Amino acid sequence: MMQTPELSIRERRAQIISRIETAADSKGLNPSDITLTAVSKVQPDDRVDAMLEAGQRVFGENRVQEAKARWKERKAEYPEIKLRLIGPLQTNKAEEAVALFDVIETIDRMKLAAFVAKAMKAQDRDIELFVQINTGEEEQKAGVLPQDADLFLKEVKDNLGLKISGLMCIPPVGEPAGPHFALLRKIALRNGIANLSMGMSEDFEIAIGFGSTHVRVGSALFGERVTT
Ligand SMILES: *Cc1c(COP(=O)(O)O)cnc(C)c1O
Repeated sequence: MMQTPELSIRERRAQIISRIETAADSKGLNPSDITLTAVSKVQPDDRVDAMLEAGQRVFGENRVQEAKARWKERKAEYPEIKLRLIGPLQTNKAEEAVALFDVIETIDRMKLAAFVAKAMKAQDRDIELFVQINTGEEEQKAGVLPQDADLFLKEVKDNLGLKISGLMCIPPVGEPAGPHFALLRKIALRNGIANLSMGMSEDFEIAIGFGSTHVRVGSALFGERVTT
């Protein structure tokens, strides 16, 4: 049997960017309004460095400690890197997260929002914040419930003075993602929020069709995550 030659990281990135452009074009959207977040969690360092060499500058991580170990020096070397936290955040890690990340996508409860607001003030650091919405109302998943979203967004603004620039969701596994993307978009529209972080390796083109501004692609870019 013929073996498929393995694509380089550079080729994989070029393919994903081209698919983003095609999906945007087909909806009459401007591809430059869509940011590709390369989800580097658990990926080996050589793949991450190859991605940097290929020109990628926006990366997503889901754990503070892992991100710190990987990105502290690389960020010093490439100051244009933008790091996005896409995993749940504990309040006791809020200070570290605010110091390291440029964007926290997973604000999901008032207590966390308060810790993040306090850390931003203490560090005099203005990072971007997204609120995670649990569109599938899954018990085991983080995120504000859709029916609580409007009030949550209002309270974060009124009580903490925080500006929320986007919403994020992770649709339930094994369900069509479209209705979840549509719901997230609806909540964002009625609350005057411009950015939508939705769409992963399997469904980023669908998400773009629903107005995603930030797609989070891991395995389709880097190859399967190597877990030990
Ligand atoms: C891991 C992860 C991704 C990337 O998943 P792939 O299916 O590998 O693209 C995106 N978003 C979140 C929140 C993740 O945890």
